[in-house]
Amino acid sequence: MRLIRKASEIRRQVASARTQGKAVGLVPTMGYLHEGHLSLIRQSAAENGLTVTSLYVNPLQFAPGEDLERYPRDLAADQALCEAAGSDILFAPADAEVYPEGVDRHLTVVSVRPLSGLLCGRTRPTHFDGVSTVVAKLLNLVAPDRAYFGQKDYQQALIIKTMVRDLNFPVAVRVCPTVREADGLAMSSRNAYLTPEERAQAPVLQRALQSAARLIEAGERDGAEVAAYMAREIGQAPLARLDYASVVDPGTLRPAGRIEGRVLLAVACYFGKARLIDNLLVDPPVKGKGPPG
Ligand code: AMP
Repeated sequence: MRLIRKASEIRRQVASARTQGKAVGLVPTMGYLHEGHLSLIRQSAAENGLTVTSLYVNPLQFAPGEDLERYPRDLAADQALCEAAGSDILFAPADAEVYPEGVDRHLTVVSVRPLSGLLCGRTRPTHFDGVSTVVAKLLNLVAPDRAYFGQKDYQQALIIKTMVRDLNFPVAVRVCPTVREADGLAMSSRNAYLTPEERAQAPVLQRALQSAARLIEAGERDGAEVAAYMAREIGQAPLARLDYASVVDPGTLRPAGRIEGRVLLAVACYFGKARLIDNLLVDPPVKGKGPPG
């Protein structure tokens, strides 16, 4: 596997793979790789002749006071993991390669409204503009045929899919399932911030989603009721500080009101320094199609 730092070099390598008839897959990450990332890399390696994993902690998507400086980093470990998962290239550019004019002097921003202002966008109002802008840059730099994202960041994946559609990026967006720890906690680089006590309580997010899904299964159709139920469940964990618990339309991210078709259950909460998110797509059982009895 090659480690590439330069934008000019990644362009050259991808162009050369293209001339050999290889399809190109891109897996954008911020590094500190875990099984969630590796599942995306494996999927790309299975579907493409060349897999590029990008590793870039994008300053534009962090607000002042967020964890940009202390975001966990371990390039040597990432290189080994990336290679073992089947990536051909690790593209780890410096800021000057991605923002040659300087991050603060960057003028063009891609904004996918109103999706970027809902759910996580309420607490992190500039975050998704930073994400869509850097992903647009990466898609232009690498020019992949396919790009891979995790369902763990459902809102992010929806925003990227929308951007790709609206701006005619010639790329197929693939969204892959959330990979979890044995106790249900969604894997995240930010789990490294958790103290042992916080870590022990963090699976409450997943448990709240699962019991809310059972509530819907049992017939509850009021989205606000289900959201309030998830908030109460998360409130049971003494160290959790809820950001939001929502039941929304999976396409618009607007509150579902009455649950009539597929809904997205989405939760976010703080445990000490870590802000954790999780989500679940739920289809209410169709009348007459459920199990007998
Ligand atoms: P990040 O490094 O956190 O920016 O994540 C890079 C990519 O990996 C994003 O598309 C995430 O949605 C995806 N990802 C992160 N955690 C998981 C997980 N637990 N399962 C599946 N995909 C994930």
